[in-house]
Formats: sequence, structure tokens, C-alpha cells
Amino acid sequence: MASRGQIIHHSAAGPTVEAGQDAVWQILEMFEHSAALLGVYDADEYLRFTNHAFRQSYFIEPGERLDWQQLMRRNYTANRGTVIKTSDIDAWISSVRSRRGKGRVRTYESDLHDGRYIWVVETMLENGWIIYVGSDVTELNASERMLRLARDVALRNSHTDELTGISNRRHVIGKLEELAASDRLAKGTACLLDIDHFKKINDTFGHQAGDAVLVGFARSVRETIRLRDGFGRVGGEEFLVLFPGQSARDAQATMIRVSNAVRDLRPIPGAPDQAITFSAGLSEITEGDEAHHVLSRCDHALYAAKEGGRDRLHVAPPR
Ligand code: GH3
Ligand code: MG
Ligand code: MG
Repeated sequence: MASRGQIIHHSAAGPTVEAGQDAVWQILEMFEHSAALLGVYDADEYLRFTNHAFRQSYFIEPGERLDWQQLMRRNYTANRGTVIKTSDIDAWISSVRSRRGKGRVRTYESDLHDGRYIWVVETMLENGWIIYVGSDVTELNASERMLRLARDVALRNSHTDELTGISNRRHVIGKLEELAASDRLAKGTACLLDIDHFKKINDTFGHQAGDAVLVGFARSVRETIRLRDGFGRVGGEEFLVLFPGQSARDAQATMIRVSNAVRDLRPIPGAPDQAITFSAGLSEITEGDEAHHVLSRCDHALYAAKEGGRDRLHVAPPR
């Protein structure tokens, strides 16, 4: 039996626990008392581990079952935890979700209501779990901090579609390029979405109602797909969803859930009976593909879906 205090050994295959459970508990105990803020989210965004510093900073009771959205909304309403400068928390959540869990590592600076500044490094595993490590950097030079914050805001704006808060065309197509260039066996699937008869919505209810449809649509899709899936607005009422590592078949199953969620929307204020639908063209990303090949196949499939009567998904034939 291993004695208390031995460390966990690492092998090429990943961490092993030869040192025994004692060491694991010892390590968890050290995490609990660490001055760094430590939290682990699972692939469904539930907090599965928090240490004392994390719970104290974000007002979490020990043993509480919370997901990231609940945590953010609760602290926003109570004016505590992360400083969130918005009058529309739904839009804020939607916008952050379009950046969270998209790459292996995400770093950012976070401003707490108690005056502290936290430097955050979030690392994601292949299975979608995320570890959050936060360090108190309040003491660091304030003027440089303002510069860094300004840079972060500028960078974020350059990625974000202003109306819907999701990725803009450049950002989501950049993600598609990354997927196409990846050396993974299963690169993933892309799906192009276009709202049906959108012009008629604008003509009947006005441009503002049209905007509300775009916002409601984007939020509904975002909430239905997985955190690690990419989602951006590529044109007026045209959107692109990316399913990293997923086959056309798996992506299709998700798209059916998206269709059902969108069908239930009544996004126009003052028009409680007005539903919307969309058409979609889907294609798996295969070896040798570049982004424009994938987009062109999706586009053809989308056209076929429109020709076929709209409110449907068409899968492009395999290359
Ligand atoms: P289909 O079912 O064939 O897709 O028909 P559609 O009417 O949806 O397609 P069409 O491409 O003819 O019309 C798209 C309209 O979207 C035209 C344009 O005025 C409108 N649009 C583009 N961007 C915006 C926007 O940001 N806000 C609003 N409200 N309308 C927009
Ligand atoms: Mg269109
Ligand atoms: Mg359309």
C-alpha cells in the first residue's frame, strides 16, 4: 500500500494512481486549501469540483449542484461574483458560450465585484470537461491591466456578431478551416442553416421583428447544440453549425432536435402565433477538404432542401 503523501505518477498513457487513494485524497485536500481558484466543469457544464477559494469567490455552497449558466445568472442578479457589464444577461450568456469550450485552452481576465482581478486559464479535455484555474492578479500594474482588458474587448468584438452575440462569419469559418486541416480521423460535420421566408417576416412585421427572430433563433440553436460545437452567423439569415469529431449521422440527430426547438419558438413580440422554420444543408468534413469545399457542398444541400419544400434538412452525398 502506498503511504499518505505520495504523488500521482504520470505515464505516457496519462496519469495513473499507483500511489493509492491516500495520495489522491491528499491532493484533493491540497486543492481545497490552495489560494488559486479551482473548479472543474463536466461536458454538460455542471460544476463537478470546486475548492474553497472558488466557492468563496463565486458564492457556492459546498455540495451544491450548479451549472455554469445558473451560476452566472445567480451572481449577476445578486450583484456579486464576476462583474458582468450588460443589461441583457441572456445575450451575455449566449455570447460567452460561443467562446467557451471551443479550443483546448482559453485565457482571460475576470473582474470580481469584491475588487479582485482574476487571471483565468480554462483547459478543456477531448471529452468536454473543463478545468478552471484562477489566480488573483489584483496587485499587477493597473494601467497594463486596462490595456489588456481593452485588447480582450477588441479581440472579442472582432469575433462576435453584434446582433446575435454568436461568432461572426470570419470566426466560424476560421473554425471550419481548423477542423478541415486537423489530422484527426473524424474531423467533424458542418451544417448550413437558412431561415425560411425570412423576407416575408421582415415585410409583414418589420425589420425589428426580423432582428428579434434572428436573436431568438440563434439563442435556441446555441442552447440545443453542445458547448464544443461551433456556431456563427455567416450572412443575413444564414448560419453555420460545426460539429467537431461528429459523423453526419450524429450531427443529423442533433439537427433534428434543433428543428424541434426552433419550431416551438414564437420569437416575434406581439405575434404569439407566428412560428418560424429553417432549411439546412449538411456535409461531413473529409480528408483533403478545405473550408470552401465543405461550404460549397453544404450550400448545394441547402439549395436542395429549399427546392424540396423548405423546413427540412438535406445531407450532401459523400465525396
Ligand atoms: P428562403 O426561404 O428562400 O430562404 O427565402 P428568404 O425570404 O428567407 O430569403 P431571401 O434571401 O430572399 O431574404 C433574406 C432577407 O433577409 C432579405 C434581407 O432584407 C433580410 N436580412 C438580412 N439581414 C438582416 C438583418 O440583420 N435583420 C433583418 N431584420 N433582416 C435581414
Ligand atoms: Mg438566405
Ligand atoms: Mg432564407
